[in-house]
Amino acid sequence: STLASSRLLAPLNEEQLKAVTLPAEHALILAGAGSGKTRVLTTRIAWLLQTGQVTPGGILAVTFTNKAAKEMVVRLSAMLPVNVRGMWIGTFHGLCNRFLRAHWQLAQLPQTFQILDTQDQLSAIKRLCKQFNVDEDRFPPKQLQYFIAGCKEDGQRAADVPVRDDETRRKVEIYQLYEEQCQREGVVDFGELMLRSYELLRDNAHVREHYRRRFRHTLVDEFQDTNKLQYAWLKLLVGLPGEGSGGAILAVGDDDQSIYAFRGARVGNMADFVREFQVQHQIKLEQNYRSYSNILDSANELISHNKTRLGKTLRTDQGAGEPVRVVESVSDFAEAQWLVDEVRQLVKQDDFERKEIALLYRSNAQSRVLETALFNAGFPYRVYGGLRFFERAEIKHALAYLRLMENPNDDTSFLRVVNFPPRGIGARSIEQLQDVARAAGCSLHDAVSATTGKAGANLAAFVAMVDVLREQTAGKTLREIIDLVIDKTGLVNHYRAEKEGADRVENLEELVNAAESFVTQEGFGRSAVAMPQGSLGLTQSPASQGLVGDAADAPVDEFSEDGVTMSPLAAFLTHAALEAGDNQAQAGEDAIQLMSVHASKGLEFDAVFITGLEEGLFPHENAMNDFDGLEEERRLMYVAITRARKRLYLSHSQTRMLHGQTRYNLKSRFFDELPEHCLKWITPKTAGFGTGVGSGMNAGGWTNTPAQNRQARPAWGQSSLSTETYKSPPVPVQKAAPEHGITAGKQVFHTKFGEGKVLAVEGTGTDARAQVNFPRHGIKWLALSVAKLTLV
Ligand code: ATP
Ligand code: MG
Repeated sequence: STLASSRLLAPLNEEQLKAVTLPAEHALILAGAGSGKTRVLTTRIAWLLQTGQVTPGGILAVTFTNKAAKEMVVRLSAMLPVNVRGMWIGTFHGLCNRFLRAHWQLAQLPQTFQILDTQDQLSAIKRLCKQFNVDEDRFPPKQLQYFIAGCKEDGQRAADVPVRDDETRRKVEIYQLYEEQCQREGVVDFGELMLRSYELLRDNAHVREHYRRRFRHTLVDEFQDTNKLQYAWLKLLVGLPGEGSGGAILAVGDDDQSIYAFRGARVGNMADFVREFQVQHQIKLEQNYRSYSNILDSANELISHNKTRLGKTLRTDQGAGEPVRVVESVSDFAEAQWLVDEVRQLVKQDDFERKEIALLYRSNAQSRVLETALFNAGFPYRVYGGLRFFERAEIKHALAYLRLMENPNDDTSFLRVVNFPPRGIGARSIEQLQDVARAAGCSLHDAVSATTGKAGANLAAFVAMVDVLREQTAGKTLREIIDLVIDKTGLVNHYRAEKEGADRVENLEELVNAAESFVTQEGFGRSAVAMPQGSLGLTQSPASQGLVGDAADAPVDEFSEDGVTMSPLAAFLTHAALEAGDNQAQAGEDAIQLMSVHASKGLEFDAVFITGLEEGLFPHENAMNDFDGLEEERRLMYVAITRARKRLYLSHSQTRMLHGQTRYNLKSRFFDELPEHCLKWITPKTAGFGTGVGSGMNAGGWTNTPAQNRQARPAWGQSSLSTETYKSPPVPVQKAAPEHGITAGKQVFHTKFGEGKVLAVEGTGTDARAQVNFPRHGIKWLALSVAKLTLV
């Protein structure tokens, strides 16, 4: 046993060893990324078991994701033969579920209670709203859902919520009704799992005593991202000093990696923990085992720009390693193309495994361009913590409308959107319609004319809307079609009204970009519809893209496959369907990893690409003008950088299609916060031209953009072995050539963003662009030749 345990402890450094072998008392490990926090936590469990200090039943370990929990179980099984099932290892939700299953009677739940996922929960709320005639315009169900979830996260039942106004009173009433409905139906949502477990412990002394005696060791990973209720639950479960026979808590965390404040995470839990539990042992781990020092120094220097920090140091013995590579592309398409080339080289020449390569992005909408490039290159890839672009609900809704326009008899698409966004067509009306269609042997669309009454009128209005859209969009470009559809069907407005709908609106606007690139990019989409080489032809005449009926008038726009003529819309839909279905990597297949920075927490990869490092994107525009927001963005960047073991790429693009427009982006301020000596400028070998970059593109592939982007830029074609470092110059303020009359200080109007104030204007002619602050949408750079700003 001593031999076995010395084998367990041998690889640890001094501080890690101390942490693993602490006495059974409360402890906090506060340490930076890659310092072995998770490893210490896992090794401590193994050591406690192996030395007989605890049985598996005495262990409770909380991790942040199910993936992390599984990994921990796997690592433990590898370390020693142990009954892992006896241990409580899981996420907060997973553990609470287990807890409520064990005490269903006390919890006043049916033994077979079901869990509502977020989607189910929303349906339940909608049903309730109908039943009680809740005005869904004033109280959108999605908002009610977030209200209810927020109350539960704060540990509040309906009766506990302070009511200050009529609106809150109504919401609280609905919360109460929702609780009754769930109780009647024997279902619990995610928040309820947590809250009900908390209440069970709070209200039942004997249960509390039982678990306090049972769990000798409670271990919590990623403690910095626990919320208020989770911490309160831990306090009840373990008991504060003086409250009896509780075991010991080992909490590990990193305040610099707290990235879930927007979901109620409370870094302050760390200080509260130390105080309330009278924590005796605080251990710092300062050795990083993950990354080479160029990567680590970059992370350290970046995060040192944050003011609110507890302060830690992190060093590595691994040597400098390769420099951090910085890449500038002319467009997001060029960026994606370069990425694919670089990934190919990593795999072919440098022997990186595909699953050891991660592409990270700040916003999920960014994955679309990357996915398309990987798809066309035939690389298997896997998207974590988010659906693949064409599988996302909002995209599927938009595609369903487009499909219906192409083919009114597509019943699946009909059912998907007949009442989405909600337009008062209930489940019963739809069932009746299905009966009629079944009896008549026709499509749902055709059966609508046979329906009567209010339901019939609503159905007829829906069909009419789609028919009108079909007519209105005839002869329009694919981009115009999609723009019109997401607007006129109410999809964009629907998501805009949601508290957390911004991401979905971004995705919908990204669909416009997808269509744009599909028709104008040679090579994009071609493989998906298997068209003969060079048959796209659309680049030459984008204005005359017609639908099927117009095809004869515009033969250059025909897509033909095996003699079948396809409209651009049909071809695009085929492309979307193929991309959604086909290329997803098989489970266990060696695939490139795509994920948001949020989803990458706790993970590590040999090579990491951080893409889209531009002002407004990363840091995100919603957070840029707010102190706390910006600090959280910087922590996100710190998390992103510290995922890399061997090689790190930071990439930004001069232009990017965002919200349906080409935006000229300033590179992220984070570049200015990195140590120059760690960076190396590399130049893409192939100049992948972007679309819609506008005029002014010179032979080298650089657009003739304003001063910020031109300075400190190496010549195109410079050797990729260049050691030139890269640091952005101070932003020069230029006086504009005001032939357009738009100058700094003026109020302007933009059709999408509304009114805003011009902050700066640069460039002339087709290069002219303005930086405008839109109160509702933040600060944006707009190309004046494209954006059509009017003075107000
Ligand atoms: P994060 O903050 O990102 O969650 P962490 O502090 O939890 O990081 P770990 O994931 O536990 O860090 O460890 C980072 C890497 O370093 C892992 O690959 C781990 O196996 C390795 N490692 C940790 N300690 C040692 C050690 N003493 N010797 C060798 N490798 C180690
Ligand atoms: Mg960890």
